[in-house]
Amino acid sequence: MRLTERLLGGVSGSLVERVRDRVRFAGSDVRCPCCEGRFGRFKRVDGELECPRCGSLKRQRLLWLFLTAERLLAARGLRILHLAPEPAVERRLRMLEGAEYVTVGIANPLADVRAEVDSLPFEDGSFDRILCSYVLEGAPDDTRAMAELRRVLSPDGLAVIQAPVNAELERTVEVGGLRAYGLDLEDRLRDSGFRVRVVPYADEMDEVAAERHGVLSPYGPLRNDLYLCQAPR
Ligand SMILES: [Zn+2]
Repeated sequence: MRLTERLLGGVSGSLVERVRDRVRFAGSDVRCPCCEGRFGRFKRVDGELECPRCGSLKRQRLLWLFLTAERLLAARGLRILHLAPEPAVERRLRMLEGAEYVTVGIANPLADVRAEVDSLPFEDGSFDRILCSYVLEGAPDDTRAMAELRRVLSPDGLAVIQAPVNAELERTVEVGGLRAYGLDLEDRLRDSGFRVRVVPYADEMDEVAAERHGVLSPYGPLRNDLYLCQAPR
C-alpha cells in the first residue's frame, strides 16, 4: 500500500487519487486556463493532455483561451448556447454575470434542455454565442444540425465550432454512421448559410504559451482549428 493510501486509510479511492495527483503533478510549469490551476505537467491519457484538477482537454483549454483573449464573453446580457457542455468550460460559463446561459445535451441529465443538435427547440436568432465542440461529427444529420445552429444564431452573433478534422481528407467520409470530417467542413458550414473563418489558434499562438497551456496540436493528421461562424453580412 502506498503512503498516501496508508495515511488516508478508509477514505474513498477518488480522494486518494486526488491527493496522489496533487503530489504527482505539483509544480508551475504548465497552467490550465479553465480552472487557473498551475501544475508541473498535464496528465497524459491516451495521447490527450488532461488537466489534473478540472479534467480539461486540449481543445477545451484552447476554446477558453480564445474566448477570453478575444473578449467574446465580455458584453453583458449575452445569450449563450452551449451544446454537449464540457464540465471544465461549463463551470466558467455558469460564473458569468449578466449572461443568459443555456446548455443542451441529449444524454446529459444535467443539461438545461434535452434535445438533439439537429432539432433545437428555440426561436430563430435566440443566441449571441453558440459553442459547439465535438458534437457535429456524431449528429445523426449534421447538415440539418448546421442549419439549426445557423437558424438560432442572432444576426450579430458568433458560433464557435470545433470538430475533429482530418487534414488528409479532402472530403468528409461517412461509414456506418461514423463521420470523419475532411477539409470540406468549412464549405459545408458555408453551404449552411454561415460566413466562416477558420482560425488555427494553437498554431498562431506563441509557442511557449501554447506549450504552457497544453494546446499544441496533438492528434497526427487531426486538426484542432476553430471555425468561427456568423450570419452573412
Ligand atoms: Zn484545469
